[in-house]
Amino acid sequence: MAHQLDLEKLNAEFETKNPQEIIAWAVAEFSPRFALTSSFGPESGTLLHMVSQIQRDLPVLFLETGYHFPETLAYKDQLVKLLGLTKVIDLRADSGKKAALVAKHDGVPYEKDPDSCCHINKVEPLDKVLKNYDAWMSGIRRRQTDFRKSIRIVEEYEGEMYKVSPLSNFTSRDSWWYLKEHKIPQHPLYEKGYLSIGCWPCTRPVQAGDDERSGRWAGKAKSECGIHTFKEVKTKEKAEEPSKDSSSNI
Ligand code: SF4
Repeated sequence: MAHQLDLEKLNAEFETKNPQEIIAWAVAEFSPRFALTSSFGPESGTLLHMVSQIQRDLPVLFLETGYHFPETLAYKDQLVKLLGLTKVIDLRADSGKKAALVAKHDGVPYEKDPDSCCHINKVEPLDKVLKNYDAWMSGIRRRQTDFRKSIRIVEEYEGEMYKVSPLSNFTSRDSWWYLKEHKIPQHPLYEKGYLSIGCWPCTRPVQAGDDERSGRWAGKAKSECGIHTFKEVKTKEKAEEPSKDSSSNI
């Protein structure tokens, strides 16, 4: 279904809305071709709880890389049960591609080629399943990384796909208070200094005073796994560019 959205107007309005209002709009606009991605990390309980109050059977996509901390998998089970989420879908890499990558890099692809490791284990499985949806929602926030500073609450990608980030304006403190207020348990590694948690080979505790995502791919020139960057965002300028056909008529 084609969605006729005025993103300039919507995004201006959403800057002053709370996340629950944005989620409710997105569910009404995109369901049933709408899903949420979750890493079941330290802040995931916030968005998952909000979603559970609005549409408990919204598909929750989890990238099961095979490299998660056991604590993350246990936390996932705990949250799914507590929040009554009924449609959590594990996405896995193509087994042949993964085996070839592991063999090529002596069993440690995350050390020798983390970009390919993320691509095969995260980007490809997500890209494949997104074909079933018109939009997806994520819990990323503007204050997390330099790249994320410029995200808009609703973005359109090439290929008629939208992404909704209702927590864009949240801080880590907002999330912390939200979890406390709603009595949602925190990821068990959070208290040990893991402020952002992904796969165990690429996650370290954060040192006092360091950036909240500094424990991800520490020591490497990498701050994103690729799932938020692999699709090109359609900008207003691009949408207004004349097509080749029309420009040839000038
Ligand atoms: S985060 Fe690390 S282990 Fe996980 S997919 Fe990326 S490189 Fe591989």
